[in-house]
Amino acid sequence: MLSEFDLIARFFTRQPRAGGAVTLGVGDDCALLMPTAGELLAVSTDMLVEGRHFFAGTDPEALGHKTLAVNLSDLAAMGARPVAFTLALALPTADASWLERFARGLLTLADAHGIELVGGDTTRGPLNLCVTVFGSVPTTHALRRDGAGKDDDIWVSGSLGDARLALEALQGKHMLTPERLALARPRLDRPQPRNALGLALRGISTAAIDISDGLLGDLGHILERSGGGAVLNADALPCGDALSSEPVARRRDFALNGGDDYELCFTAPAARRADVTAAAQLAGVPVTCIGRRTADAGIRVLDHNGIAIAVHAASFDHFASP
Ligand code: ADP
Ligand code: MG
Repeated sequence: MLSEFDLIARFFTRQPRAGGAVTLGVGDDCALLMPTAGELLAVSTDMLVEGRHFFAGTDPEALGHKTLAVNLSDLAAMGARPVAFTLALALPTADASWLERFARGLLTLADAHGIELVGGDTTRGPLNLCVTVFGSVPTTHALRRDGAGKDDDIWVSGSLGDARLALEALQGKHMLTPERLALARPRLDRPQPRNALGLALRGISTAAIDISDGLLGDLGHILERSGGGAVLNADALPCGDALSSEPVARRRDFALNGGDDYELCFTAPAARRADVTAAAQLAGVPVTCIGRRTADAGIRVLDHNGIAIAVHAASFDHFASP
């Protein structure tokens, strides 16, 4: 049987990278980080709860990946460079094979983004995974939600809706062929946070958010802070590979309201279009201009005839449903 301390030592303790921001990592009362002079520390926490955010029995490696990915995504949406993270874990049992695979998924993604695990807490309890990330961003470059300009373009990265399609297929709400489920499922299980894009958009984008609860709801958060509304082009919405072969009503619904995409939705002045495209190329992520900000409040979605489509922003709220 693994003790709490064996478990931390075996799976979650590594030497801090030489020359990095981490002066002291796992093993003391606190980690010690050296902030970058002249930059702000960006901090965010996201928790994944079994039965709420993932099915019991989910592949532990995918879970390790996703636990960190959803947090890295918040740093991307702030334009912050990932530096370090902590991990608070509640585990029903100390299962070495589960932990090994979980740690592999977590630390492989951490290495890919140059972010270091510097501490955490470990307790027995219903499976619950909580990460806090720390990032660094120059004072004038944080991609805050309140910065969208008057007539700014609205952009999204990558594609939308496949995570929702996979979720509904796994819940038995929707039939998908095994081939199309295999296409959609990585978007649900292994989201790829857009950190390179977030960094490339520093100084270009005026406001950004990561799409975790659905485009309409998350864009709504930018508009709440920045004021005004938006008009979107329904035909411009970039649908995921699997979603693209669904009927148009579902394509629109899942692209507008599907959660778990972890793409970036961001604004930029129309005069910066070439810079946005260059940033996307640098980051190796496609971006699509889907509309623009308007002076009037509310989000209108228009089809190719300019006719408004009835949409409801069904953004996920943990306390709205049982
Ligand atoms: P304390 O009693 O000071 O809270 P703990 O005994 O909980 O310390 O943890 C010992 C050390 O191990 C601390 O440095 C803590 O940050 C680290 N730690 C605990 N759990 C984890 C974990 N799941 N991942 C990484 N580090 C952890
Ligand atoms: Mg502790």
